[in-house]
Amino acid sequence: MTGWRATFISLFPDLFPGPLGASILGSALARDVWGFDVVDLRAHGLGKHRTVDDTPAGGGAGMVLRADVAAAAIDSVAAEGRPLLMMSPRGERFDQAMAHQLAAGPGAILFCGRFEAIDQRVIDRRGMREVSIGDFVLAGGEVAAMAITEACVRLLPGVVGASASLVEESFETGLLEHPHYTRPHVWEGASIPDILTSGDHKRIEKWRKDQAVELTKARRPDLYAPFRNSVTPAADRPRNG
Ligand code: SAH
Repeated sequence: MTGWRATFISLFPDLFPGPLGASILGSALARDVWGFDVVDLRAHGLGKHRTVDDTPAGGGAGMVLRADVAAAAIDSVAAEGRPLLMMSPRGERFDQAMAHQLAAGPGAILFCGRFEAIDQRVIDRRGMREVSIGDFVLAGGEVAAMAITEACVRLLPGVVGASASLVEESFETGLLEHPHYTRPHVWEGASIPDILTSGDHKRIEKWRKDQAVELTKARRPDLYAPFRNSVTPAADRPRNG
């Protein structure tokens, strides 16, 4: 098998590829730009009922994925240099920089949690890198694993049509992207900004950059601060600018 490779470890293997099989990712899948397989966690369960979970040591709500079952599933995968990621709201926050880092490698093994938690010992012993897709709690890791895979695969060469559209995107420049418009020229009384139909590419470029800066400043002060610091030396900056 060629290309970037994702292995999903999940109790719900039928969920894959799901949205990853549609549109540009789906066509890249068909062209072997990337590939995936799914390890059914249940297949590594114990006994007649293929049990994968048990009650938490020390008591409390919910069930915990057993370390021995999780490890058996993990150990059944040929890692081939790929990092082992544990989907977890406690993990480091996934972002575009991590997407680039993962996309540059051979792929990833993505462990999709369920229940209250996974036994800590398997995280420690198997050196799982805990990754979160945001400060909210999902019911399971499958959607998180799909989100991470989608962000990585669309960075692979030949997945997104024009690679320029990747370069100008939100986060790639340290800014959010400028607004876009298309026909009709007037819609519900609202016109496309004149500058975009002026044909003056220099001014259009500047307008887009200014819009991106303003949008980032208004919506994402956390992104704007490092951007401002990178373009304006501290000494030249107005105090409250
Ligand atoms: N009790 C846990 C949440 C369990 S949610 C806690 O408080 O931290 C069940 C599973 O969903 C998790 O094991 C994880 O695999 C997945 N999940 C939930 N939220 C996530 C997030 N923000 N990012 C990545 N995975 C998440």
